[in-house]
Amino acid sequence: MGTELRYEVKPVQHYIDGEFCDSISGKTFKTVNPTTNEVITTAAEGFSEDIDKAVRAANRAFREGPWAEMKTKDRAELMRTIAAGIESNSEELSYLETLDTGLPISQTKGQAARAAANFRFFAEMISRMTGESFPVDDTFLNYTTMKPVGVAGLITPWNTPLMLASWKIAPCLATGNTAVLKPAEWSPLTAAKLASILDAAGVPKGVFNVVQGYGETAGAALVAHEDVKLISFTGETTTGKEIMRNGADTLKRFSMELGGKSPVVVFADADLDRAVDAVVFGIYSLNGERCTAGSRLLVERSIKDEFERRLQERVEKIKIGDPFHPDTEVGALIHKDHYDRVTNYIQIGQKEGARVLAGGSRPRDMSQGNFLSPTLFVDVTNDMRIAQEEIFGPVLVSIPFDSEEEAVKLANDVNYGLASYVWTTDLTRAHRVSQQIEAGMVWINSQNVRDLRTPFGGAKMSGIGREGGHYSFEFYTEQKTIHLAMGEHHIPQFGK
Ligand code: NAD
Repeated sequence: MGTELRYEVKPVQHYIDGEFCDSISGKTFKTVNPTTNEVITTAAEGFSEDIDKAVRAANRAFREGPWAEMKTKDRAELMRTIAAGIESNSEELSYLETLDTGLPISQTKGQAARAAANFRFFAEMISRMTGESFPVDDTFLNYTTMKPVGVAGLITPWNTPLMLASWKIAPCLATGNTAVLKPAEWSPLTAAKLASILDAAGVPKGVFNVVQGYGETAGAALVAHEDVKLISFTGETTTGKEIMRNGADTLKRFSMELGGKSPVVVFADADLDRAVDAVVFGIYSLNGERCTAGSRLLVERSIKDEFERRLQERVEKIKIGDPFHPDTEVGALIHKDHYDRVTNYIQIGQKEGARVLAGGSRPRDMSQGNFLSPTLFVDVTNDMRIAQEEIFGPVLVSIPFDSEEEAVKLANDVNYGLASYVWTTDLTRAHRVSQQIEAGMVWINSQNVRDLRTPFGGAKMSGIGREGGHYSFEFYTEQKTIHLAMGEHHIPQFGK
């Protein structure tokens, strides 16, 4: 891939207590370019001593600094300055993200804009953070307040790393907590750039820290640290389970955004032109490395052949290639190991008896890098592994159904419950089916369009808790109830 370096990429350091620094051990790891699998640069490899240093700085900033007591309007102003910093660095951020992840540049530009929007949104939201009051006749006034909790550990995955980090950092800091971010080891670049943006915006020393490194070492140390009160985690379900086990001894509060295998239910009466657009975009955008990807198509049998034919036509024309080319729609998968995992699923699907209608292999003219043609499986049954397990790549499976009842049954017959999509022009049925689908989120006649005020999160094995809008406050703040006696209520007089 002919990608000339447009921005200097320096070795990545941690950001601790307002300083960029190397690991105490001096160790580093390599981050690679998904289009070539060549090394881009090295990153500092953090271990428990680096995590401890960062948590101590964050704890000090929380307890001694001006941060937790700062006026809401001043913190909001700082959030807006960060948003402006992201916007003025958005070219570089999207460049670094594409270089590190292989996501198409047109899409990483959108992600950088979303990262800025997340900071602006929570700057606005905290001005609306209120408590409740519970007057009891004229004898009591009870009311609640929301206070920051302390040091939060933010653990992010490698898919859309910048946007997902901002989705955690913004509500965490806006509500007065301090944070240690542990980005995914396959995508360290944008987190380091983000740290420099927060630094330049004037975030006080120790309030925001980044420790790079592997999950089993740096991540696990963050989860186990006794001074870390919250863990907001986004990643695989199996990792989430392990994190909950490891955080049990220190009784962590968890937000878990986990995996998905989201159904797209297309009824025969749907606007099929729009449904085709949404199905294709829903699985193949972001290289299919998207937690809310509509990865299981459930299509009414009467339109199945026609719908699959139309999908095939479109999937075969998707522009796959250099992620820096502005027209590219699908780039390279993040890492060789992930590429092997995704392509292994294509073999598994074929062995299970499913048929590849489009894609399924490396594009002919691309001999290097982690490129996989967008793949469409038909003749799939819901018990196959490719219909049940999260592939997290550009692979769609198509399963027919004969009745509404069967569609709901198939949609729910999976361990996950993150997103779901329903396509029908029958409004009553749209609502009925949405009520029955076991998922945290349902989109009707729509692709995945986010309203930042709404709760985001999954049911079943897709997660615990909701973030977004005021739902983020429930996680990032400690609610306190204050009971005020007005006048003289009865107090039993023991021992009188
Ligand atoms: P992953 O679980 O392998 O890693 C996520 C993060 O956890 C990384 O930073 C990793 O270093 C860290 N980690 C790993 N082991 C750890 C441990 N023992 N202790 C602490 N930290 C540890 O996930 P991934 O492969 O980076 O990301 C893909 C997954 O993320 C998919 O399953 C996807 O569905 C999910 N995801 C979910 C959402 C959502 O909102 N529900 C959003 C994006 C991605």
